Amino acid sequence: MDTRQLTGKLFVISGPSGAGKGTIIKRLMTDSDPDRIVLSTSMTTRAPREGEVDGVSYYFVSMEEFQALVEEGGFLEHAQVYQNCYGTPKAPVIENLARGIDVILEIDIQGALAVKESYPEGIFIFILPPSMTELRKRITGRGTESPEIIDMRLSKVMQEVAYIEEYDYCVVNGEVEEAASRVRSIMTAEHSRVTENVHEIIDRYKEEI
Ligand code: 5GP
Repeated sequence: MDTRQLTGKLFVISGPSGAGKGTIIKRLMTDSDPDRIVLSTSMTTRAPREGEVDGVSYYFVSMEEFQALVEEGGFLEHAQVYQNCYGTPKAPVIENLARGIDVILEIDIQGALAVKESYPEGIFIFILPPSMTELRKRITGRGTESPEIIDMRLSKVMQEVAYIEEYDYCVVNGEVEEAASRVRSIMTAEHSRVTENVHEIIDRYKEEI
């Protein structure tokens, strides 16, 4: 992918199921400027849960519709997570980045690793639960998953944590406000990188002299 014209930043937030990615992101989005940062809406073949809205939580599609977009090359990444398919539609991500708008992806670890291959300029943030006990409590407390699914998710967590070294940052989600604040600090730090600012600032100095 030619990324030279893309000036927004791509923040990829992932981590084990139940680590609280969604809650942190919700918190982040409530006080961020939609002209500067957007959350990508994924496509999934999973059935909507109570309260989920099509086009907001996800684009809920059939397996045929999903496969059609895979064949068109319309996904930035896609993966099978548990029994369902999930994918990040490519076009809106590229359009936003090209307009200088940051994009957040909330995706699973396989997806994040795939994005790292095709878009290594992304910033990869791993969200960790404070403990396995707390993680079990969170997944159980959601009340939406069967006991078999919960056991399957928990057994996957330790395998997933092994990929943490592929990431740039990790944030332990003990308390949502604190975790969201850490993610915000990472975003600010990434926008303060020398590569991004140095030419513009030096040019401005030259004009002043
Ligand atoms: P859930 O079914 O609980 O909404 O999501 C299950 C898992 O799929 C979560 O870890 C979530 O981050 C991940 N996921 C959601 N959207 C995408 C996507 O577009 N791509 C990938 N690879 N994973 C996704």
